[in-house]
Amino acid sequence: MTEEEKTIYDLIIIGAGPAGLGASIYSSRYKLNHLVIGEEVGGQVVEASEIENWAGEKSISGRDLMDKFIDQAKELGASIIGENVEQIEKKENDFEIITKNGNKYLSKTIILALGMKPRRMNVKGEKDFVGKGVSYCATCDAMFFRNRNVVVVGGGDSAAMAAQHLTEFADKVYLLHREPTDWEPSREEELKKTNKVEFISCENILEIKGDTRVREIVYLQDGENKNLPIEGVFIEVGTVPGVVLAKNLGVNVDDKEYIIVDQTQATNVEGVWAAGDVTTGSNKFRQIITAVAEGAVASGSIYRKLRL
Ligand SMILES: Cc1cc2nc3c(=O)[nH]c(=O)nc-3n(C[C@H](O)[C@H](O)[C@H](O)COP(=O)(O)OP(=O)(O)OC[C@H]3O[C@@H](n4cnc5c(N)ncnc54)[C@H](O)[C@@H]3O)c2cc1C
Repeated sequence: MTEEEKTIYDLIIIGAGPAGLGASIYSSRYKLNHLVIGEEVGGQVVEASEIENWAGEKSISGRDLMDKFIDQAKELGASIIGENVEQIEKKENDFEIITKNGNKYLSKTIILALGMKPRRMNVKGEKDFVGKGVSYCATCDAMFFRNRNVVVVGGGDSAAMAAQHLTEFADKVYLLHREPTDWEPSREEELKKTNKVEFISCENILEIKGDTRVREIVYLQDGENKNLPIEGVFIEVGTVPGVVLAKNLGVNVDDKEYIIVDQTQATNVEGVWAAGDVTTGSNKFRQIITAVAEGAVASGSIYRKLRL
């Protein structure tokens, strides 16, 4: 049994993105004995090639920003474990957290900072070609599409950012989107300047086709099926919250599966708080700055509950 497994923590934070690490930084300052467990340490923001709206940094990559968060959290005393949590069980006085590797940790309170997962399009061929041309992470996979033609599907900022990143590798990037789009207008201007991006407006995506790898995408435009030959499909159609753990604990979620929190970031289950993209908090404005703020508020609420 490791030291971590023998300890009964004041707090275990599940999730190591901005919300979880923000909560950890405040928890160290409050001297809460805590542990952070997150599968992807750094969270989804590590996929962002450039962040320009985090106060104090004019421009920084998501990876570099999160490395700073991780360094600061560790420097203040946090233990961060890179594991997937499979189960949380409510015991009489505390919670038992069980990871995929079978490790067990005990805590008086929990912050769920579970973030988001990429939304699937659920079209024919999508599942079959994952890893064979279909990707949900341009930052991770763009380099495999050097000198190829690729398509990005989506109409938001993530799609525009993925397209921007892909222009550094691919020959041609199609941006296949429905109307209206909701990326920032400045992003569209930057994409046009590259002369590599072609915007295609469509009604729907119908199928991804190929043999051993992706070869084309079929979409509906003006009521007609159109075939676009490409070798990569980057899907950026949004995200869904990862709330399975929360629901199994009896935590209430809204109709879109976001964890319902009050102003203190508390859920309906005694001892369980939630923070970041996974919650209904911050007017559902899902950004790094709000995730960190929610983590800080949750940590402060737990401090008041345990110590005051
Ligand atoms: C490409 C891209 C660009 C973006 N650009 C910006 C930007 O410019 N500015 C901005 O403010 N925001 C941006 N965002 C949004 C920002 O990344 C999110 O708002 C922020 O990451 C939310 O933080 P979070 O901690 O709530 O969730 P996440 O970052 O999603 O972190 C969730 C954490 O929970 C962990 N987790 C989930 N389930 C489990 C489990 N069962 N067991 C263990 N760990 C688990 C994950 O591994 C991860 O560590 C961008 C996002 C993307 C994808």
